[in-house]
Amino acid sequence: NCATTKKNPSSGKLIVLTGPSGVGKGTLMRSLLQRHPELYYSVSATTRPPRPGEVNGESYYFVSRSKFEELIAQGEFLESAEFAGNYYGTPREAVLNQVQSGKLVVLEIELAGARQVRASFPEALSIFILPPSFEELEKRIRGRGQDSEEAITRRLQRAKEEIQAADEFDIQIVNDNFEAALQAIEVALFG
Ligand code: 5GP
Repeated sequence: NCATTKKNPSSGKLIVLTGPSGVGKGTLMRSLLQRHPELYYSVSATTRPPRPGEVNGESYYFVSRSKFEELIAQGEFLESAEFAGNYYGTPREAVLNQVQSGKLVVLEIELAGARQVRASFPEALSIFILPPSFEELEKRIRGRGQDSEEAITRRLQRAKEEIQAADEFDIQIVNDNFEAALQAIEVALFG
């Protein structure tokens, strides 16, 4: 796990955590929030159906496609993207309010959305989580056992493309050891 480049963490209130599906960024995110309750985690909207155990308003706001398109048209998203056949988006107002009130706001989003945020907020600190290898990533995505074969194939193809974009981001962290990866994120955020 190495933090290759680093921006002054106090210069950015918006943190973008990205990386391919299955890399473990959701789990890293949850541990980070447990250890630092002062962070504000932005709950996204999605058209993906809930997985077992996912709670509306906690994991995501689960909305229909037509509702999502309505929200896009109303400019309600800071960024949005289509991923593996579903829409995902970050609520604009909640995030900007939190940033303005001085909070450290963390977005856990896929590549296209992360690029949008970097373009609109160049001062955001962006972190890319990498798998130890593509083979390991495939194992993790399959092992999750919650998605159809079709969804898995799409996620793997997408993951290959996403990994190639790692260099665009401020910091790259390899998630080969969970605790070490978590600590690398903490260093990036808090010094
Ligand atoms: P999942 O369906 O596995 O929960 O999420 C699929 C991908 O969508 C993950 O890479 C996740 O980080 C990303 N994602 C979740 N919320 C958002 C969002 O609001 N915007 C974007 N662009 N991606 C998101």
